[in-house]
Amino acid sequence: MKETHRPTPVALRTDTSRQLYERARQFIPGGVNSPVRAFRAVGGTPLFIRRGEGPYIWDEDGNRYIDYVLSWGPLILGHAHPRVVEAVRRAAEGGTSFGAPTRAEIELAERVIEMVPSVEMVRFVNSGTEATMSALRLARAVTGRTKIIKFIGCYHGHVDALLVRAGSGVATLGLPDSPGVTQGTTQDTLVAPYNDLEAVETLFQAHAETIAAVIVEPVAGNMGVIPPAPGFLEGLRSLCDRYGALLIFDEVMTGFRVHLGGAQALYGVRPDITTLGKVIGGGLPVGAYAGPRDIMEHVAPVGTMYQAGTLSGNPIAMAAGLATLDVLREPGTWATLLERTQRLAAGLKQAADAAGVPVVQTQVGTMFSLFFMDGPQPRSWDDVQQADTQRYARWFWALAARGVYVAPSQFEAGFMSLAHDDSVIERTIEVAYDAFRAM
Ligand SMILES: *Cc1c(COP(=O)(O)O)cnc(C)c1O
Repeated sequence: MKETHRPTPVALRTDTSRQLYERARQFIPGGVNSPVRAFRAVGGTPLFIRRGEGPYIWDEDGNRYIDYVLSWGPLILGHAHPRVVEAVRRAAEGGTSFGAPTRAEIELAERVIEMVPSVEMVRFVNSGTEATMSALRLARAVTGRTKIIKFIGCYHGHVDALLVRAGSGVATLGLPDSPGVTQGTTQDTLVAPYNDLEAVETLFQAHAETIAAVIVEPVAGNMGVIPPAPGFLEGLRSLCDRYGALLIFDEVMTGFRVHLGGAQALYGVRPDITTLGKVIGGGLPVGAYAGPRDIMEHVAPVGTMYQAGTLSGNPIAMAAGLATLDVLREPGTWATLLERTQRLAAGLKQAADAAGVPVVQTQVGTMFSLFFMDGPQPRSWDDVQQADTQRYARWFWALAARGVYVAPSQFEAGFMSLAHDDSVIERTIEVAYDAFRAM
C-alpha cells in the first residue's frame, strides 16, 4: 500500500460547533430543526455550518469538508452555484412574495412537464411533506376510497398518515411511529415490505374496494439507497390498474436525481400522481404534486379537492428551481454527473476492499449508499438491518476528521453534485482509503 494511504491520527477541532450546540439546545428542541441533524446515529455533536461553495462546506470552527449530503439532496449543482445565486438575487430585488400568480410559476411548471413523462399539470407547495400529504388527499378524492398502501422503510415526510414504519421504529401494521399521531389517522395505512409484490397483492385481495392508492419511493432512498427489484414497479402498476387504485411515485428524492425525468423515466413506469421536492427548489423550499390533467383537475379551484398555500409558488423559490433545472438540462451535464457518481462509488468500494472492510454498494443515478455489511444487495428494510451502524459511525467521523462530510446515518443516501470535479472525487477516494484503515 502506498505511503499516502497509511492512516494518520487526525483530531477534528469542534469547539465552536459545541458551544453553538449548547446554546441551540436551550431554545430549539435538541438544538435542531430536523431530527437527523442531531447526529444521534453517529454520536458526538452536530457540526454547525457557516457557508458552502461548490463541493465544499465550512463549519463554524473553520474546517472545510467535501460535502456529499448537499442539504439532503437538493443541491445537485453544488453550493452557491453562480446561476442560482444570480437568479435568487434578481428575484429578491423584484419583491419576495405577492400571493398572486407570477410568470416564474408557469415556467417552472413547463420545465417539469417537459422533463417528467407522466406530468401534464403541476401544483407547487413548500415542502416534500406538503406534496405527499396533498397527493394522498387527491388520490382519496379521485377514487372515493380511504386506504393507502406504503412500504416499510419508505419515508414520505412527516405526514401523520405516513408516519408508519417510516424508515425506523418497530411499529407493527398500522401503528403510528410517533406519539401524537392517532390510531384513527393511521388505521387506513397498510404496510408491505419494499420489493415484495406478493405482500401488496395480499393486501389488495383483503381490502380490494377500499384502497385508494399505493405510495412508493420508486428508488428507496430513506433506508439507504435500495433500487426496485426488476418487475417491482411494473407489478405495482398492474395491481393498481387491476384494483382501480392510483399509483403515487414519491419522487421528492429521485426526481431529477436518478434520471432527468425521474425514476418513472428511468424504469419506464407511469404513476398517476408524482410528488417532487428537493432538487426542484434548488436549495429553496419547494415541493410539488403533479400528474395527468384528468387527475390534477380534481384540485381546487377547478375541482373540489381543497389545497392552498400563502407562500406556494414563491418567486424566489421558483427562480432557484428554474435556474437549477436549466443548468441540469444543458447538453452533457447529466452524463457528467452520472459518470462521476459511478467513479466515486467504484472508488469507495475499492478502498473498502483494500482495507478488508465488508461493504455492499448501491447506486442509482446520482444517489449512492455504502452499507457496512456482507452479502447480496439489500432489497428491503429488514435486509439493511444487517448493517453495522457502529462501524458506519466510526467511518463517518474518520471521514469528517479528514475533510469529507457524508450523511450522519447509515440509512441515508449519499448525493453527487456537478461541482464535484475529478480532483474532488480523487481526493475523496484517497481520504476513504485512510478512513477505512483508521476505523
Ligand atoms: C425528503 C423526502 C420527503 C419530505 O420532504 P420535506 O421537504 O423534508 O418535507 C418526502 N419524500 C421523500 C421520498 C423524501 O426523500
